[in-house]
Amino acid sequence: MKPVFAALIDALGESSLIHGPEVAQRATSYWDPSPTRAQAIVKPRDTAQVSAALAICHRFGQAVVTQGGLTGCARGADTTPDEVILSLEWLNAIEAIDTVAGTARVQAGVTLQSLQEAARERDWLFALDLGARGSCTIGGNIATNAGGINVLRYGMMRNLVLGLEAVLADGTVLSNMDEVLKNNAGYDLKQMLIGTEGTLGIVTRAVVRLHPLPATCQAALVALRSFEEVTALLKQMQRDLAGTLSAFEVMWNSYFAAATVPGGHRPPMDRTYPFYVMLQAEGADPDTDARRFEGLLEAALERGLIIDAVIPRSEAERRALWEVRENFESILKNRKTYLYDVSLPLRHMADYADSVRERVLARWPRARCIQFGHIADGNLHLFVQPESDDADHAACDEAVYEPLLPFGGSVSAEHGIGLEKKDWLARSRNQADLAVMRSIKRALDPKNILNPGRIFDT
Ligand code: ZN
Repeated sequence: MKPVFAALIDALGESSLIHGPEVAQRATSYWDPSPTRAQAIVKPRDTAQVSAALAICHRFGQAVVTQGGLTGCARGADTTPDEVILSLEWLNAIEAIDTVAGTARVQAGVTLQSLQEAARERDWLFALDLGARGSCTIGGNIATNAGGINVLRYGMMRNLVLGLEAVLADGTVLSNMDEVLKNNAGYDLKQMLIGTEGTLGIVTRAVVRLHPLPATCQAALVALRSFEEVTALLKQMQRDLAGTLSAFEVMWNSYFAAATVPGGHRPPMDRTYPFYVMLQAEGADPDTDARRFEGLLEAALERGLIIDAVIPRSEAERRALWEVRENFESILKNRKTYLYDVSLPLRHMADYADSVRERVLARWPRARCIQFGHIADGNLHLFVQPESDDADHAACDEAVYEPLLPFGGSVSAEHGIGLEKKDWLARSRNQADLAVMRSIKRALDPKNILNPGRIFDT
């Protein structure tokens, strides 16, 4: 046995280390069913064990990849055969919920959905929400600064973290489990760690912010003729719903039509409209909120701003509408798909989306270019399905990213860089930024053992 494994077993116990053929019994990720390739899987039970494991790996120069729910979209947690996986699956406790101030103290391996449910049981809302809620973990949400569908009202993960505990490459525990929003005593180290995809430290615990659970929820699926009208509706709803609009999810026809083919979702309205928006508001007054929301939609219909609308009449109907937007398994099934997640100023988004589609179709005439996103955040998702044997990933990247750069866009709105977008990072961040990122990485992880080669090469 390699000395590093003997030392890990010595420190954490036999049951905390999986090695040999058992490692390959795990799938690489949610997106990739092929067997995991890694030297071993280490499963610490608490922060002290994460610290002990990293101190050992640091001593031996052993590369470590942190894994949570494995739903990341940038291959940041995929491993090579010589790496060791540090899985946070046993750090899965919700330690405390403070119902006075509205905070929760959680371990990194807690799934997003279990935190949402625990908060809801106590009449509080944990506002981060995304399709992978059942599998993704709070640690992963922090490592990638997750966004999702409620960002326009509540912000990204970064805005919801009050305190953080993380273990650095040499085993040092940085513990700043603040429970208050304001703390300006020196550098904000937690914000420096959030969104670094496990390259600077391993998040073990956090204090997150909760919001009062809204008393009412209004949702609708609407159809529009043009992207200009989509942005006009967004502006109007943000103004007239006075801060209660929590989701505004746009689907180009390419998305909606693909999600509602036979074998997919039942189409809740005509499948031929150019644009669809799933919108949701959460308010405080059961007597007036629904009337106000529906009144605004009626007025928009009368003015011709929207051309069709479906308002769910039950929780089951509301969930079914959301399924169209959130569950895209049927679109991905049996097709080679490249996923993209870009951001750019809203005023350029329609032109950009058109230009990507034109490029993709010019190159691969049978291709599908499927577009949707959280446009209030400037965030556009794309699925490119070239439907052609000569389409490689790099060529698709070019078709998507080349037209993005002149618009001042980012190659990652919320998925991170991982291994997947590394080649494009230098094209979307300037040299000074990259130099500072590298010097921070070298200072905190001098032996380059934490998620090495993710985001950038040192
Ligand atoms: Zn998203």
